[in-house]
Amino acid sequence: MMTDDRGGLTEALGDTIGAGTEIATVRRLLHQSNELINNIAALTDKRAELNPLPGSLRKRHLRCGKRSCRCRSGALHGPYYYFEPSRQHGKWRYVPKERLSEVRQGIADWKKQREIDEMLQACAAELDAALKALRQGVELLVQPPE
Ligand SMILES: [Zn+2]
Repeated sequence: MMTDDRGGLTEALGDTIGAGTEIATVRRLLHQSNELINNIAALTDKRAELNPLPGSLRKRHLRCGKRSCRCRSGALHGPYYYFEPSRQHGKWRYVPKERLSEVRQGIADWKKQREIDEMLQACAAELDAALKALRQGVELLVQPPE
C-alpha cells in the first residue's frame, strides 16, 4: 500500500464533510466484495472438479433359486452392490466390484457438491448485501447528505 497525505489532509480539515469515513467505508466494502468474489471463484473451481453421482449405494445378499445350493440353508450369495439414484423412482443399477470405488467417489462428490452449493449461496447473499452497501456508500461519498 502506498501512503499519501490525503488522510492527513482530511484529519487536518476535520471530519466536517464526512468524506474520510465514507472513503473508509467504501474501501472496506470493496475489500469485502473482493474477498467474496475470490471465495466464489475458488468454490466454483472446486465444484467443477467434482464428478457427482446423485444417489446411494445399496448392499444385497441374494438367494439364487437352485435347489441344491447352500443359499437354501441361509448362506446367501453376495454381497452385491446396487446404485440407487436419488431422484424419485430411479431404478437400482447393479455395480460390479471393479467400479465400486468409482461409484463411492461419485456419491462423495455429490455430497461435497451440495456443501459447496450451500457455501456459494451464502457467499452470493453476502456479496449482494456488500454491493448494495457499496452503492449506498458511493452515493453518500459523491453526494453527502445536506
Ligand atoms: Zn444359491
